[in-house]
Amino acid sequence: MFDTHELGRRPGALQRISRSVQAPKEGLGVEGVIGVPEGAPVEIELRLESVMEGVLVTGTARASAEGECVRCLEPLRQEVEADFQEMFSYPDTDDRGRKAATGDDAEDDEDMTPLEDGMFDLEPVLRDAVVLALPMQPVCREDCAGLCAECGANLNDDPDHHHDAVDIRWAALQGLAGSLGTDEKDNMSGAEPGVDEKQEK
Ligand SMILES: [Zn+2]
Ligand SMILES: [Zn+2]
Repeated sequence: MFDTHELGRRPGALQRISRSVQAPKEGLGVEGVIGVPEGAPVEIELRLESVMEGVLVTGTARASAEGECVRCLEPLRQEVEADFQEMFSYPDTDDRGRKAATGDDAEDDEDMTPLEDGMFDLEPVLRDAVVLALPMQPVCREDCAGLCAECGANLNDDPDHHHDAVDIRWAALQGLAGSLGTDEKDNMSGAEPGVDEKQEK
């Protein structure tokens, strides 16, 4: 919670606040994808501006998010910087001007959050801003090669990794040969020398 008492209610008054807070319960972000873990430091810079209806809060939050690369599934860490702006209204002015003026109630609710005894809760604002600032498809690096679709090997570790189409066909043939019995298998190996060698590679 942040206090606006020091700011006062004189329109035009400004106050700047820098504060380090801890990421709230359940963290900030998209669960299972990427987010700032609970308790991790979040550096917040706020600019509070007193206006007629309340306090306009503009700010930036910086934190370190943790997640998993969508391509190679390796853990990753990424700095996130989120900008936000929120209007916190004085409860007594809430019903007068603004609400009647704007037709869209949903939008109105989002734009005007009432102050409680001159205090405001930044958490919902912070949560929305950080989620928006985070990538939906985080990657450990732009050119992450991901995993092999066939065997799941990490292609970043092994750029030359590939499976020959021949190998797949041969594997299928081998399975077939196995079901036909050992005689057939011997014949096939004899017919195509060198294939076994290739397989082992
Ligand atoms: Zn990756
Ligand atoms: Zn593979």
